[in-house]
Amino acid sequence: MIISVASGKGGTGKTLVATSLALSLRERDKVQLLDCDVEEPNDHIFLKPVFTRSEAVAIPVPEVNEEKCTHCGKCAEVCAYNAIAVMKQKVLVFPELCHGCGACGYLCPEKAISEEAKEIGVVESGSSDGIGFVHGKLAVGEVMAPPVIRQVKEHISREGTVIIDVSPGTSCPVVEAVKDSDFCLLVTEPTPFGLNDLVLAVETVRVLNIPCGIVLNRAGVGDGKVEEYCQKENIPVLLTIPLDTEIASFYSRGVPLVEGMPQWKVSFLGLSDKIREIVNERSSDTER
Ligand code: SF4
Ligand code: SF4
Repeated sequence: MIISVASGKGGTGKTLVATSLALSLRERDKVQLLDCDVEEPNDHIFLKPVFTRSEAVAIPVPEVNEEKCTHCGKCAEVCAYNAIAVMKQKVLVFPELCHGCGACGYLCPEKAISEEAKEIGVVESGSSDGIGFVHGKLAVGEVMAPPVIRQVKEHISREGTVIIDVSPGTSCPVVEAVKDSDFCLLVTEPTPFGLNDLVLAVETVRVLNIPCGIVLNRAGVGDGKVEEYCQKENIPVLLTIPLDTEIASFYSRGVPLVEGMPQWKVSFLGLSDKIREIVNERSSDTER
């Protein structure tokens, strides 16, 4: 089972949930934790994994042979990302905008475009006390997170439970990380900002046709609008974590919640049981 842990808004406690779920589950299942928040991965701070492998992530960017080029403009026309511009005497490539799709090279009538690999990040893998751990790191100044996320996800082993920590928001990196999950856990907080971004996140996972449930973090702050919304939209609130200075203190010191306060393990195991129930119910509905 693949569970992605996402949130419309940053700073809602996604890392706290992903790491505590992994640590709780490892006692009864094979667990992998994939940190796909590649712009700012921080699960390793909590799990302190030992890395045994590091792979570069590269995308192919075009290189133009000016001797063959007739400056017809076809490549600039097909590039959806404005990463290539054709001047009278020269073709300019903007590698930081290039998505490495290969369309320009494929469609160049003169075969004047070849590809060169551009390194955009790294994927590191290893383990942390029985948990398989993989994370991706986008290089400074790079913006193309999806290829790094795809390479992190190549490490998925379907044998046990896979937990994917997703970047906040609802943009391409989120879709890349969440797609193919069996369930998406949305972590939010009971504030107007939390609700606004939760609504967007729910719309995204619904388009992807992935069942979702809520973890309500810092309960006690804000209002009851998130619960009202969940009730109206028939989205289950699967776990509530209160606003608590002790929890915040462990988090600020890089101590996972279930290690600082082991009594929370039962709640996280219960959360995993509820997710499994929803996923099983859904797959038997599909079979019918
Ligand atoms: S499509 Fe090929 S020939 Fe035409 S401008 Fe681009 S590189 Fe030059
Ligand atoms: S590889 Fe794709 S994104 Fe990059 S310049 Fe060519 S068409 Fe544009």
